[in-house]
Amino acid sequence: MNPIATRPRVIIIGSGFGGLFAARALARADVDIRLIARTTHHLFQPLLYQVATGILAPGEIAPATREVLAHQDNVQVEMGDVTDIDLDARTVTAATLGVARTYGYDHLIVAAGANQSWFGNDQFAEYAPGMKSVDDALELRGRIFGAFELAELAAAAGRDEEAEALTTFVVVGAGPTGVEMAGQLAELSRRTLRHDFRHIDPRTAKIYLMDAADAVLGSFDESLRDKTRTALEKLGIDVLLGAKVVDVDARGLEYEDEAGERHRIEALTKVWAAGVAASPLAGRLAEQVGLTVDRAGRIPVRADLTLPGHPEVYVVGDMVALDNLPGVAQVAIQQARYAASRIKATLGGKPVTEPFSYFDKGNMATISRFRAIAEIRRLKVTGFPAWVLWLGVHLVYIIGFKSRVTTLLHWLVSFLGRGRSERNITEQQIFGRLAMNRVSDLPEKAGRNVGWLPDGEDQGS
Ligand SMILES: Cc1cc2nc3c(=O)[nH]c(=O)nc-3n(C[C@H](O)[C@H](O)[C@H](O)COP(=O)(O)OP(=O)(O)OC[C@H]3O[C@@H](n4cnc5c(N)ncnc54)[C@H](O)[C@@H]3O)c2cc1C
Repeated sequence: MNPIATRPRVIIIGSGFGGLFAARALARADVDIRLIARTTHHLFQPLLYQVATGILAPGEIAPATREVLAHQDNVQVEMGDVTDIDLDARTVTAATLGVARTYGYDHLIVAAGANQSWFGNDQFAEYAPGMKSVDDALELRGRIFGAFELAELAAAAGRDEEAEALTTFVVVGAGPTGVEMAGQLAELSRRTLRHDFRHIDPRTAKIYLMDAADAVLGSFDESLRDKTRTALEKLGIDVLLGAKVVDVDARGLEYEDEAGERHRIEALTKVWAAGVAASPLAGRLAEQVGLTVDRAGRIPVRADLTLPGHPEVYVVGDMVALDNLPGVAQVAIQQARYAASRIKATLGGKPVTEPFSYFDKGNMATISRFRAIAEIRRLKVTGFPAWVLWLGVHLVYIIGFKSRVTTLLHWLVSFLGRGRSERNITEQQIFGRLAMNRVSDLPEKAGRNVGWLPDGEDQGS
């Protein structure tokens, strides 16, 4: 029996911070929610770099959305790629394995987030993958640990120059993600792996952190940026600023310095942590209401997060351009809660009139074990106290007691000891994405149906 019949229908797109927190905020509302997301998990993106560097397992930062919402009776979770939203018809079309279905809604919350951006150079992605999904993190894990294995073979065969390129790592983008990634690569090579090889010394691995801007952690206070740079250099990381990547290939990358001079770094492993572009759904919505997306593809919503002429449609999180708010989890969470509170108030006949207002709880980033920076309004914290703060905040926001306990255990292994519990890699991790891309280039990819699902089914709108 379909429990969804007469109550107002709420569709939520996305199971990230925006989508999940919106669904939870509607737990007691007299509505029927359909949460549609491309993945079956809620992803805690801030810890992806720990999956990539072997500290955490994917399950700890990506619990099944279905399990998280199992006891919330007013929500149905559905795996699907939303391919269209028709604002006039009030419908959402989603597809799973090429089979489409269309649903009607009374209220819609769009929280489809952002994808990696290579600033118009998508060809870089093959050799410098980004870090936005579990797939990305596992692929990077495969590439990082695989590079050390190949370097060991090259050194054993006397090919020292090749071994050096194999143990050279370049992280592009010196925002929090790039800083955290570079810091972990330093810890991995200097601490974890130091006794594990016979022909190479992993401690001599070269790690570059580069950015076209002239500072690391550009969104933080200047004093914290300087401290971070010094701390990174102490870890043996080469910080290259004013360095714009102009070409990437299998064996290395080229960049231009501020004087316009071109340089090359031979490095097998490159990590792209430089840019994001909002989900294309932002553009699809903007078109329908006559808005223009910004350079990052984000939609300029109204102050109450709705679209002009469509008070029933909210857009939240990384897809949104509003008051120069950053693309961080807190913005998505607070916007999701605001949208949910407005839906509840509308149902109760007392519409909310106050616009969305963001409460900035501060910013933080880790540099390495026991070292972080945090900026909470005027308060600046560095070193060990900031790291403890970072630890606490992340434990609070990781979803589920089980994940918190296992994450804490893995952190004990890695931060108190020097081990990493998740060093396993497979060929599929390294080559899977490329193989899938090649398969998806085949003509039969369009409308591919693997035979389990009925064709082109259209459901209750
Ligand atoms: C590596 C990394 C590190 C970060 N570190 C921090 C940090 O330390 N602190 C911080 O505050 N923020 C951090 N962020 C940013 C933070 O994760 C985002 O701001 C936040 O996730 C935004 O939430 P969202 O709901 O808008 O999007 P997301 O969390 O990205 O969720 C988007 C959801 O939409 C789904 N989706 C996308 N397209 C479709 C579609 N067409 N159909 C169906 N579903 C779709 C996705 O599968 C996903 O479930 C980090 C981000 C990354 C990538």
